[in-house]
Amino acid sequence: MIAAPPIGEKLRDWKQQWRAAITSGSALCTRLNLDPADPRLGLDAQPDFPVRVPESFARRMRPGDPDDPLLRQVLGRSEERLVANHERADPTADLSMRRAAGVLHKYAGRVLLLATGACAVHCRYCFRKNFPYDSELAARHDWREAIALIKADPSVNEVILSGGDPLSLDTDKLARLTTALYDVPHLRRIRLHTRVPVVLPDRVDGALQSWLHGLPWRVTLVLHANHANEVDHSVAAAAARLRLSGATVLNQAVLLRGVNDSVAAQVALSEALDRAAVLPYYLHLLDPVLGTAHFAVDDQVARAVHDGMKAALPGFLVPRLVREIPGESSKTWVAAAHTSATHGDSH
Ligand SMILES: *Cc1c(COP(=O)(O)O)cnc(C)c1O
Ligand code: SF4
Repeated sequence: MIAAPPIGEKLRDWKQQWRAAITSGSALCTRLNLDPADPRLGLDAQPDFPVRVPESFARRMRPGDPDDPLLRQVLGRSEERLVANHERADPTADLSMRRAAGVLHKYAGRVLLLATGACAVHCRYCFRKNFPYDSELAARHDWREAIALIKADPSVNEVILSGGDPLSLDTDKLARLTTALYDVPHLRRIRLHTRVPVVLPDRVDGALQSWLHGLPWRVTLVLHANHANEVDHSVAAAAARLRLSGATVLNQAVLLRGVNDSVAAQVALSEALDRAAVLPYYLHLLDPVLGTAHFAVDDQVARAVHDGMKAALPGFLVPRLVREIPGESSKTWVAAAHTSATHGDSH
């Protein structure tokens, strides 16, 4: 149940919350009554990819639990310095699909814009954590290059704002992009891939709602929550505000060892999303980005977890289990455990 009314609710200034985020692993441990020197944490005090967690997300972690599934997603650990042979800086070969600064055109009809490099939270497993954002931002020069490309290609019917996190940008800046896209006759859909409504729900404020509501296309937001504990009432209320502005709200998750690699964890996530009226869309197998081997889940386990979800949930609460294979024309659907042999899936 959503206790607070979705509109008219008093939200706190999201920019202030953004600036006040916790930016060190030891500060986060202290916040959670954990000893930064606790060997169970394996803390790296100075990781290359800095720690970043807003208080609104830290609040959902269990104090005193070094294995908290939300903490595991954001705390820098020395294990990240171990690089496995098959890991890559750009595992999805995104840079080979770039059409202009920050413009990725990989799949038919859909152009993905790397709107910004900034995120409200830093996820340790992020497949874009090594991305050269300094030179690769579609929002540079007021989106001019990106807009010109979209206008010139009638096959493009959907613009996906990704990043980084597009909702780290001011609503005004997002509106400048969409205003410039108004006169593109072939555009039918706009999508935002964002973790912000999950980690900093107050970002879904009146200005954002008005912007979304005024867009002349079908609007979809794909959120990113990996564990049921992430989806509390503040997230449900933010999702409700998004729906009231006319958007369809979906979720994608990444299958992560020690975070959500069990049937029980995934079923609980789907149930929590359903209570928030958010539909599960994708469950991604981890992309082999540098230093993430400790999060990797074996394919067999992944298939078994997915089969367990199918057996426990209505079909519409079972996300598609997918992996990204560079060069393929879509995300690759991973087959069920009991059919993989007959279908000859090579992964
Ligand atoms: C994942 C992705 C998309 C979106 O794919 P859908 O299957 O439509 O969700 C689009 N472009 C790129 C570059 C992607 O990585
Ligand atoms: S919010 Fe998304 S883009 Fe940002 S660090 Fe997390 S996974 Fe990566």
